Amino acid sequence: MTDGKSLLYKQENAYELVSDKEKSECGAYCEGYKKFLDESKTERLAVDCSIKLAEAKGFRPFHHDMELTPGDKVYLNNRGKSLLLAVIGKKRLSEGVNISAAHLDSPRIDLKQVPLYEESELAYFNTHYYGGVKKYQWVTIPLELHGVVVRKDGTSVTVAIGNCDTDPQFVITDLLPHLSSEQMKKTLADGITGEGLDILIGSYPCEGEEGTNKVKLNILRILNEKYDITEEDFLSAELIAVPAFNARDIGIDRSLIGGYGQDDRACSYASLLAVMELQVPEKTAVCVLADKEETGSDGVTGMKSHVFEHFMRDLCDIQDVKLNHCFANSFCISADVCNGLDPNYADVSDKRNNARMNYGMAVLKYSGSRGKSGTSDASAEVVGRLRGIFDKEGIIWQMAELGKVDQGGGGTVAMFMAQRNIDTIDAGVPVLSMHAPYEVTAKLDCYMTYRGIKAVFENN
Ligand code: MN
Ligand code: MN
Repeated sequence: MTDGKSLLYKQENAYELVSDKEKSECGAYCEGYKKFLDESKTERLAVDCSIKLAEAKGFRPFHHDMELTPGDKVYLNNRGKSLLLAVIGKKRLSEGVNISAAHLDSPRIDLKQVPLYEESELAYFNTHYYGGVKKYQWVTIPLELHGVVVRKDGTSVTVAIGNCDTDPQFVITDLLPHLSSEQMKKTLADGITGEGLDILIGSYPCEGEEGTNKVKLNILRILNEKYDITEEDFLSAELIAVPAFNARDIGIDRSLIGGYGQDDRACSYASLLAVMELQVPEKTAVCVLADKEETGSDGVTGMKSHVFEHFMRDLCDIQDVKLNHCFANSFCISADVCNGLDPNYADVSDKRNNARMNYGMAVLKYSGSRGKSGTSDASAEVVGRLRGIFDKEGIIWQMAELGKVDQGGGGTVAMFMAQRNIDTIDAGVPVLSMHAPYEVTAKLDCYMTYRGIKAVFENN
């Protein structure tokens, strides 16, 4: 008779399961991850940082007329905002590729195209938030500014203010409690409005000028001196305010990581490192670091963009393989974060099905909301295949679901990969305070996600 132990499914905390060697590898991995978070606070910065890391590991820019042999490493920089990397495998592309698709964009505060104004002798940037933010979380925290300004003549300048120790930073103010009796009656959704998220940027009136708007004028003078731009140049700028704090260990035991943009740079970094460490895989490995996931994956740098097909078709053409045959045999991890069970908000989760911190890489058969709307829902066969690989490679993982039934929900890039006739499944790192300016992950989950993606690249 089969004993009870092997009949029952029992999940264990990863700390009960990992070896000392794995613990020390995890520590080293997370030091690199925190550095990546600090250098990659926007998708543009994340692309720059990823290319720097990849080139150091032998990746080179892809051209469609290249000769490629097994073990060759290439990347395609899509407009500086998304990145595709591949390591050519021994098998032909007609047998399919293994893909890990993560995203580099995170919720944040974008400047409008006519952003600068002065009110009551204070200068502000008017903004339009990006992605699913809880607006009240973005007031009274230090912000830094990043982006690019493109001038009429096509030249451009990169802006970065607030990330150096000596730089000034920015803030969105909130009302003092003494005068908040009306505000405090509002819901969390209404207490701070989208139009209310304007960033304070100065108060020093321009000397030797007559008339009004002298504070604004002084700001323009400073920007003109530093960046050689005028107010009109904001029209063709992409300027982004992000939290000004760097990633840190969290907890007396240092088991957690606090940092901005861990959705989805936790999985982006895991995917990048996994693909970078491959030598000559059996099947070609593809790492997609997409943009625009937080606003629906639209746009030329989002996962719906045909740039992915174009890249894959070019790779297939080199081997005289049809793209549809390649896709039909491919496998994709949609590498994205999910919510970790938060004891302070336990009632939104089904305890037995929610991801838990330190229980390893979280696999979601489906995401979506309201009866699984907007999910690709991976088949049992796909989940079974993944279980086999993880079991073989000793990956600590858990099955997860994004909250209780009808509690809400969310989507990832999974459905856009599945639409392409690619077997796809969501998996990634559980996060506390997801989409907040400062998100929390567990180190072992980050490390196991990297190991899990690498296992797929090496075994599928
Ligand atoms: Mn995400
Ligand atoms: Mn997200």
